[in-house]
Amino acid sequence: MIENQFSQFHLSDEIIETLTLLDYTTPTKIQEVVIPNALSGYDIIAKAQTGSGKTAAFGIPICEKIIWEENLPQALVLEPTRELAQQVKTELFHIGRKKRIKIPALFGGMPIDKQILSLKQKSHMIVGTPGRIMDHIRRGSLVLNQIQVVVIDEADLMFQMGFAEEVIEILKQLNSSRQIMLFSATMDDKIINSVLGFMQEPKYLLLPDAEETKGSITQSLFYVDPDKKFSAFMNLMIHYLPDNCMIFCATREMVNTLYQKLRREKVRCGMLHGEMEQRDRLKTIEAFRDGHFHTLVCTDVAARGIDFDSLTHVFQYDLPTNVETYVHRIGRTGRNGKSGVAISLAAPDESRLVTAIEQYTQESIPVMSLPSVTADQKNLFLKRQQEKPILKKRKGAVFQKSISNIAIGGGRKSKMRSGDIVGAICGIEGITPEDIGIIDVRDSLTYVEILNQKGDLVLKALEQKPIKGKIRKVSMSRKRN
Ligand code: AMP
Repeated sequence: MIENQFSQFHLSDEIIETLTLLDYTTPTKIQEVVIPNALSGYDIIAKAQTGSGKTAAFGIPICEKIIWEENLPQALVLEPTRELAQQVKTELFHIGRKKRIKIPALFGGMPIDKQILSLKQKSHMIVGTPGRIMDHIRRGSLVLNQIQVVVIDEADLMFQMGFAEEVIEILKQLNSSRQIMLFSATMDDKIINSVLGFMQEPKYLLLPDAEETKGSITQSLFYVDPDKKFSAFMNLMIHYLPDNCMIFCATREMVNTLYQKLRREKVRCGMLHGEMEQRDRLKTIEAFRDGHFHTLVCTDVAARGIDFDSLTHVFQYDLPTNVETYVHRIGRTGRNGKSGVAISLAAPDESRLVTAIEQYTQESIPVMSLPSVTADQKNLFLKRQQEKPILKKRKGAVFQKSISNIAIGGGRKSKMRSGDIVGAICGIEGITPEDIGIIDVRDSLTYVEILNQKGDLVLKALEQKPIKGKIRKVSMSRKRN
């Protein structure tokens, strides 16, 4: 077997095994520099874009250091958006899978009482948005006494979104010996100065731009009259025949309108904007990632951070007014060394904005004439839309082979506790505490993960073994993490 190159960091077997399962065998550039420094306990200021592997760069050392037996959270990861909080939680959850690290995600738009209940159970690490985290701190539902490390992720976006005060307030609440890691796509003196006072001789880990994982992005610009915009856009879609694309619009209303129009043209697509219910937003992101549809119409809510694999094309139905947003949007494609295509539409009176973008990126964007499309191209495009989607394997699926989820009748309402479950399961012959994964006590049901392919054994035994004095209804569950 080829040795996993992460072994150079002297990580525990559990973490190395997990990384191998996830197919992380070679550290990315940012991981090479961050992991050893983070393991040594340094405060870190790192410049890293999404797609560079920065989540694992801080996630691996944090998971390595987590002490499972500790009941209070030991690490806090701050994210600017709810979607990012969910995504980062999932990535950290995968890295910590074999260590059975429990990571609630705390963000707005989701019921706070459920979050409070989940915080009452053992949590090793917290991922969340500053606003909701502050809310939990004020309510006393989140206790920070044991926090050893805090990550300020996507710091530039965090500050741009107005979370500076909350971030500083959270830092003030932590004990003085904690480690701080700050990650930002751009290095802004104002941001760094505002957290520098909390750090001790931080290590600056700034990779030269050329060393970042950059693929190549081919940009094109089409000037179109506003009243012919949609038909021009359809021609571009048919012409480019994207495998997987995002279409950026300026407003929520525009996203809605374009989504409806595309549906009418039988384009299989989804939409994402800030006015949607949080649950629907997360569902859309998952469905797009899983491959249920290949076209996502969105506002800039999805421009930063969210990791969508292999986007072949980015369309800007509307140009952004902010030049930096242009770069973030097109940067969704051409990642991990792959090439990508960025196509922008502009109204004839937007040429000054185009010049401003070109000045900012120091690259000229080739202006192209609209392609005409043939009936055959149209048919091919429509045929593609009707094909049954081939769903991608989720990253966590690699763990599912050896992990089962058992649902047990009885939960909070009947005062069921994790200890009752552990006690009963550990009493089964051939089972040790290491075979028990995450326990999730709900109102009238408890889910328990059984590791190491021992699910069937445990299920059989529990059918006849009382838990808290009673034989419980038990079944294999298909709950997905
Ligand atoms: P991030 O920059 O953290 O959003 O990560 C970008 C993508 O790279 C994510 O899908 C990660 O799961 C993946 N990734 C991170 N580190 C590695 C690695 N060492 N090898 C392969 N994939 C990785």
